[in-house]
Amino acid sequence: MKLAHMLSSLTFKFAAVCLLTFSLHTAFAQEIEKQEIHGIAVANIDRTIKPGEDFYLFANGEWIKRTEIPPDRAGIGVFTALSDLSNKRTAALIAEAAKGDAPAGSNARKIADLYNSYMDEAAIEARGIEPLRAPLAAIAAITDQRQLAHALGESLRADVDALNNTNFHTPNLFGLWVAPGFNDSEHYTAYLLQGGLQLPDREYYVADNERMRQIRSEYQTHVAAMLKLAGFTDSEVRAKRVVDLEHAIAEKHISLAENEDIHKANNTWKQADFASKAPGIDWAEYFRGAGLSEQPSFIVWQPSAFTGEAALAAATPLEAWKDWLAYHLIEGYAGVLPRALAEERFAFFGKTLTGTPQQRPRWQRGVAVVNALLGDAVGQIYAQRYFPPEAKAEAQALVANITAAFRKRIEALDWMNPATKAEAQAKLTTLYVGIGYPETWQDYSAYEVKAGDIFGNLWRGSLFEYHRGIARLGKQVDRKEWSMTPQTVNAVNLPLQNALNFPAAILEPPFFDPQAPAAVNYGAIGSVIGHEISHTFDTEGSAFDSKGRVRNWWTPGDLAHFEAAAEKLVAQFDTYKPFPDVNVNGKQTIAENIADLAGLSAAYDGYRASLGGKAAPAQDGFNGDQQFFIAFGQNWGSKTREAALRRQVLTDEHAPAQFRAATVRNLDSWYAAFPIQAGEKLYLAPTDRVRIW
Ligand SMILES: [Zn+2]
Repeated sequence: MKLAHMLSSLTFKFAAVCLLTFSLHTAFAQEIEKQEIHGIAVANIDRTIKPGEDFYLFANGEWIKRTEIPPDRAGIGVFTALSDLSNKRTAALIAEAAKGDAPAGSNARKIADLYNSYMDEAAIEARGIEPLRAPLAAIAAITDQRQLAHALGESLRADVDALNNTNFHTPNLFGLWVAPGFNDSEHYTAYLLQGGLQLPDREYYVADNERMRQIRSEYQTHVAAMLKLAGFTDSEVRAKRVVDLEHAIAEKHISLAENEDIHKANNTWKQADFASKAPGIDWAEYFRGAGLSEQPSFIVWQPSAFTGEAALAAATPLEAWKDWLAYHLIEGYAGVLPRALAEERFAFFGKTLTGTPQQRPRWQRGVAVVNALLGDAVGQIYAQRYFPPEAKAEAQALVANITAAFRKRIEALDWMNPATKAEAQAKLTTLYVGIGYPETWQDYSAYEVKAGDIFGNLWRGSLFEYHRGIARLGKQVDRKEWSMTPQTVNAVNLPLQNALNFPAAILEPPFFDPQAPAAVNYGAIGSVIGHEISHTFDTEGSAFDSKGRVRNWWTPGDLAHFEAAAEKLVAQFDTYKPFPDVNVNGKQTIAENIADLAGLSAAYDGYRASLGGKAAPAQDGFNGDQQFFIAFGQNWGSKTREAALRRQVLTDEHAPAQFRAATVRNLDSWYAAFPIQAGEKLYLAPTDRVRIW
């Protein structure tokens, strides 16, 4: 589970490499990079606003006044600015590698060859669709169900992730996720997830409204165009067959909301069970094609979809499946095929589907390709250059203080059962908090990158990831394994490993600055760290115990008390109105709002403890406690377009940033810090302040 879902478009998978729609807007990033003050951004504060009236505007008002949303973005804030900075740095590292003369087989050489092969548009144009010939011929040669099953198995990739980076989409018939087992968290297990669609979700196929009907119609035109560009005759007939088949698959899929219920997902199927539970596919041949004949069992995330999709394999004419396989192959590689195909792909998936008017410059897409396929190779250099050991040590000390604060808070809870408290403490003891970068780096020696062969480099890259995944099946779990690269601006909770990752790229000002006073670091990154830690023992974390096993360790009494306390916070958030006709949904956002409150409270305790009784230094007239709260408020400084904000209120489990900043009103220490007066808008009587952890 990620800290910020606004970034989900950045955590992409292989097939979506060419779809990234972010672009570099370096002005704000440079502002951050050049920042010479190590502390709160005083220039962003609007002193005409009373903190007790609107704390968010007080902390960010001047920044909001002088900032404009770039025309190709839905919003802008600290996260997007840090992403720009990380991309700029990554691009420079790649350019360096590309210039040097690194020895064959080295990571630097692979980075250079991969990037250069992506950038060589003349060579791509000259090769035309030649790279597609062999794989298309293999599809054309399929003559029976057994061969179809084999081909479907061969297309399986490790391209989904149900719980960490949360990605439920694969265009292949199914997707593999290799992760600690639900029922055996000590060993890597094979999870299989539904797939088979090019459009983002089943809703795009089944929703009955004008916009979706329009998208479907344009999609079919697009499929025909792609087939035609790849040299197929009867492209319109084929396109209809492909879209009809995808529609039938979509009807077998379960919804995104249902996907998130892990208790429904824990279905172990032995390999022999597939034939009886999901007849229609020659499963022995499927698993042979996938290289998984020896894998005794799988956790099938959506059993009904497997039954339905397998039945379609038998019930749908072979010709339709062959067109579907061919089109999916072409679409998956369009970004590295001649311009006509790449542009047709962007015209639909970029313009029509996301409203993005312009494709990013090719070099930025090249950076994204390298990050996707050689992320750790780049990350290793990135961490070395931008995350010094002192920064790591300081961040670790911060984590230790916040963890200690949580320990005390749990011990002091009056509503939690002693046995539950003991398990919560045990989870804190075994929690692995990864800071900056992983302890071990991915070994790319088995990934062959060839100069001038971008198609092959992508093909082998996705196979390399897949083989790395299946080689781990049954092996002992490495709890310290990371699921994000150091150059990613985000944070993640890995429930099956009882672990957190805080990549180097988020441990940057304004979130974290080793030269800034403790008050500022605890208020900014400390509250983020506290937020993630709290998820390990809240209602989300209560499904996984200290070993990462699926076991609900809360008693019904604990849950009842927790929910009663949460009720008050639900009501508090229900009162917030981003627009006169819309209010925040307190219930939908409750888990994240509790985590914000828990994180802020523990960060404050950690900050006070870090002072060791000494007074905190003042900055521009703001004392330590004031800096702590302002730093927290400045985490949320952002501007979002109205349409995007309305959509967020409807669909996101995180409340809009401006209301997350208002979490401060539940802490007594905030009232004392400024001080806040009764009668001011955010003022809550002491009994109305919500205390959960
Ligand atoms: Zn969260």
